[in-house]
Amino acid sequence: MSKIQEDEIEELAQFLRLQLSQRSVVVTSKSSSYQESIARWSSAAEKRAAIVVIPDDHREVAIVIVFAQTRGIEIAIRGGGHATSGSSSTDGGICIDLSRLRKVIVDPDTKTVTAQGGALWADVDKAAEEHGLAVVGGTVNTTSVGGLTLSGSYKYLVRQYGLVINNLLEVELVLADGKTVTASRHKTSQPFWAIRGAGASFGAILSFNFQAYAMRTPVWGGALVIGISELPKVVAFANDLFLESDPKSAMIWGFKVIAPDTFGIVAVVFYEGMEQMGQALFAPLLNLQLLVNSTCSRSYSSMNTLFNNDLQAGYRRSMKGSEFLTPLDYTFARKCLAEFQDFIKRPPDASMSVMVFEVFPFKKIISVSKQTQHLQIVEYMGIYCVAEYFNYDCTNFTTALVKVLLLIYPGIGVGGKQVFGNNFTRLLDLKKRYDPTNVFSKGPQLLSQTSSE
Ligand SMILES: Cc1cc2nc3c(=O)[nH]c(=O)nc-3n(C[C@H](O)[C@H](O)[C@H](O)COP(=O)(O)OP(=O)(O)OC[C@H]3O[C@@H](n4cnc5c(N)ncnc54)[C@H](O)[C@@H]3O)c2cc1C
Repeated sequence: MSKIQEDEIEELAQFLRLQLSQRSVVVTSKSSSYQESIARWSSAAEKRAAIVVIPDDHREVAIVIVFAQTRGIEIAIRGGGHATSGSSSTDGGICIDLSRLRKVIVDPDTKTVTAQGGALWADVDKAAEEHGLAVVGGTVNTTSVGGLTLSGSYKYLVRQYGLVINNLLEVELVLADGKTVTASRHKTSQPFWAIRGAGASFGAILSFNFQAYAMRTPVWGGALVIGISELPKVVAFANDLFLESDPKSAMIWGFKVIAPDTFGIVAVVFYEGMEQMGQALFAPLLNLQLLVNSTCSRSYSSMNTLFNNDLQAGYRRSMKGSEFLTPLDYTFARKCLAEFQDFIKRPPDASMSVMVFEVFPFKKIISVSKQTQHLQIVEYMGIYCVAEYFNYDCTNFTTALVKVLLLIYPGIGVGGKQVFGNNFTRLLDLKKRYDPTNVFSKGPQLLSQTSSE
């Protein structure tokens, strides 16, 4: 797949405009909205697309795919634009921006929710909540359903209901040849198996149909800021919570600069139940000397807004993660803190960065049959770092950090073929069948690996 030549851009854009409805928008660098149309959550992920198409009607996505595919032009699909890898951007190709396709329909009888391919989790949370329901989704409601679902994905409700993909019932998608098909777990359809974890490599998803669950409201939760001297107690509590049998709880915690030259521990705690029960479960944390405590009874949807302010779009960012087997070792946590403190000292403008540990027990997730999805899951906890900066390349830091973690916990956090494991060969066969020319080249790289590698 190639770039569009500079002198062909306007002609091809005009050709596209003629094929699409007037409500759809076709943007090139000559358009006043160009900069806005290539902006991403991390400005480091921005690339100069030759043409950005913003379809107003989901049926027009197929027109653009056929248009690009027949001319060998690279395609990128943009959902919420949060991928720091730049996988929703293209340098010189066509970007299909799904941001106008955000409709959400709730069926309260079957407790299912259907979201269009460009819907954000905020759209889903709001629509589901109106019916007393919730879908397993993301913790930052500005991320899109598409990008988050297609990579597996988890957050507060996973301990009860599994990954987002475990709750995906059906998708409508445009394949590489431009055909629009429905793939569903009820039809034992093969692309559906592949989509649940490698979706961005198989098509443009026009709609996602999810299982939803009755959500008791209010839930309890919020953010705590704790002095760094309490780290041993926070680590001990996180380890206990991981083993704790109450599936309604979740916790994310990590390191952050809380005042000039002062590092603190920030913890977001969640309990799907009454305030008193949440407070009892999290008492070991609540009894520490807290610098901030915003926990209260609140709606489930508001839990997914807690990070929004701190994680607004527009900064240069790198986000990388790894996993470690439980229990979390205190010495290891201290080492991570030391690495993080060392990084923050270097670039003058990286003080908004965070290093995060997740406490989402995986029992429910690993109970899912390997036959129904291709992701391989083991019981681990996740660690990741969102490094933020203005003028400094912090990708080096996040990459180095992941290597540090791998040295300490060898054999985990590996990617590519190792992630797909025994399912890789089947996944590769499906890729060859549905997208042999790699029209959808921005997801996990499958065709570049062989099953013997
Ligand atoms: C602030 C923040 C919070 C996050 N929170 C969570 C979380 O709580 N849980 C979690 O699991 N992950 C989380 N993530 C990771 C997140 O899941 C990924 O960054 C995800 O890719 C974001 O999706 P997006 O659509 O917003 O991004 P985009 O950059 O638009 O898309 C990401 C990838 O998905 C593809 N894609 C998007 N929509 C479609 C579609 N409809 N059809 C085909 N391909 C599509 C794009 O082409 C691209 O390859 C978070 C990331 C950030 C930056």
